[in-house]
Amino acid sequence: MEGKITNVDVKDVRFPTSLTGDGSDAMHTDPDYSCAYVILTTSEGDKGYGLTFTIGKGTEVVVAAVKALQSLVIGKFLKNIFGDFGNFWRELTSDSQLRWIGPEKGVIHLATAAVINALWDLWAKKENKPLWKLLVDMTPEQLVSTIDFRYISDAITKEEAIAYLKKKESGKKERETELRNVGYPAYCTSVGWIGYSDEKIKMLCKEKLSEGFTAFKAKVGQSVKDDKRRLSLIRKEIGESNLLMVDANQKWDVDEAISWMKELTEFNLLWIEEPTSPDDVLGHAAISKALKPYGIGVATGEQCQNRVMFKQMLQAGSLQFCQIDSCRLGGVNEILSVYLMAAKFGIPVCPHAGGVGLCELVQHLSIWDFISASSSLDNRMIEYVEHLHEHFEAPVVMNNGRYTLPLSPGYSTKMKDQTISDYEYPDGNVWKKMFLEGKFTEPQLPK
Ligand SMILES: [Mg+2]
Repeated sequence: MEGKITNVDVKDVRFPTSLTGDGSDAMHTDPDYSCAYVILTTSEGDKGYGLTFTIGKGTEVVVAAVKALQSLVIGKFLKNIFGDFGNFWRELTSDSQLRWIGPEKGVIHLATAAVINALWDLWAKKENKPLWKLLVDMTPEQLVSTIDFRYISDAITKEEAIAYLKKKESGKKERETELRNVGYPAYCTSVGWIGYSDEKIKMLCKEKLSEGFTAFKAKVGQSVKDDKRRLSLIRKEIGESNLLMVDANQKWDVDEAISWMKELTEFNLLWIEEPTSPDDVLGHAAISKALKPYGIGVATGEQCQNRVMFKQMLQAGSLQFCQIDSCRLGGVNEILSVYLMAAKFGIPVCPHAGGVGLCELVQHLSIWDFISASSSLDNRMIEYVEHLHEHFEAPVVMNNGRYTLPLSPGYSTKMKDQTISDYEYPDGNVWKKMFLEGKFTEPQLPK
């Protein structure tokens, strides 16, 4: 592959979602969905776009971290990056000074995700394929060569991963055809944001049912009384046969999570998501054990910081549903390792999505998973949230409550130029107007 990376540009892009309560939950009551948006340029004039999701303040810190990574990317030849992507990934995450502010966690890892996502978008575009198809068409050896197995080889080895993917090679064509025909299953979260009124929730349940959704998620954790009222009305709207999950966004201590969820068993819930601190491996295991008799699983992962934490969660029986996040982990390379570990432990992956761009990205990963890895749709679905898709050049297409396979080349990460000029923070047209109108206070950003 010709060319080298000549520029890494990064932008702070924010949307004023706090004005309508979109995305609000028990811990994040007023998010402004945002992203650090990376644009790579090559010597051949090709572009790759990547992002990592944030919720407002602090996006400028992620932008600074991307700038800190620039020198590790600029000047690199594409054939060297993509010819040994596992090694490049390790170089990017192992700089002997920068790793001190991680390693492989927090702001620096969010920045890594944005850069790595942009590289995968670039690679898929160079191959003229959607990302999922680039992954599906790789041999098991090629695919596994993109993964850094350091720190996880006690749970899965390179050889095991290759053998597993080889075993799944038969039937790939049929599974691809199946998904091209019917799409990938989804569930809907945007009916139950914590800041929405009962009337709005009822209206949205009706709307989403009519669009073909059969699985729903609601936010919980402000008070048991409130949760009961909201869950009763959602159950009443969606009926007993549709799936219902709840999400506490890390609100509780371990014992509190168990006793709170015991109060909600009447609603026949499939999972409780993020009941407690995302770092508490043994706490999640205790909650899983206590809620098993009630048929409630534990789901977590949207703030699980790296493959090592996922490894421990899987080893300790901490989760029954694994929720990778396309921008929290260090991009596709690390995500593939988590899908492969989850497969080995028999745990379904149901990616976290929503935010801005997350639906666009994760669809590629679960489509690859079904065709090339798990080969199963049992207990697997991708989160769907309906906000902000209009800002992308190739937004997700939903049909009958499922994700339609994306066919444009790349990782579906490119935002419209107009969006950038409107929503870049704080100088975009829309932001300037909102500061003038007094809807937001103009920030004093660090120089
Ligand atoms: Mg969640």
